[in-house]
Amino acid sequence: MEQRIIHACGHEQAHHLTGFESQQERKAKWLKTTTCRDCFVAEKRAEEVAAATSSSAAVSHLVLPPLTGTDRQISWASTIRIKRLAALTNPNNDADCCACLQVTDAKWWIDYRDLTDADLVAAATKASGIQNVTAVTASITDMPRTA
Ligand SMILES: [Zn+2]
Repeated sequence: MEQRIIHACGHEQAHHLTGFESQQERKAKWLKTTTCRDCFVAEKRAEEVAAATSSSAAVSHLVLPPLTGTDRQISWASTIRIKRLAALTNPNNDADCCACLQVTDAKWWIDYRDLTDADLVAAATKASGIQNVTAVTASITDMPRTA
């Protein structure tokens, strides 16, 4: 049965309620205490924007090296990186952030976006460690040989 519910935000929205009459009544009563779908989506979006703004502020003291990858990867990875760094940053010791900042591969940030903070730092340390070894090896090879 379709019912028009006036939500807490004042907007009216049609809902298809199923189940026994008592269940429908309970559902309708509950729906009246919630915001409509449009307001819910708008609120979520506003929360995301607010979270992104506060994350950017939290990492504003860090120098974020440019990411590498496709435009799509970079734009997605930038959002992930800011969010993760904001959670990791620590005014007394930004070592964890520093390890993560070494990783500029956009794909890495996307692939590891669901890791816990500790696992992310461990993965970053490992990734940056490998990169450093490669850099060291390269510089040794580049050195002129003196005999
Ligand atoms: Zn509404």
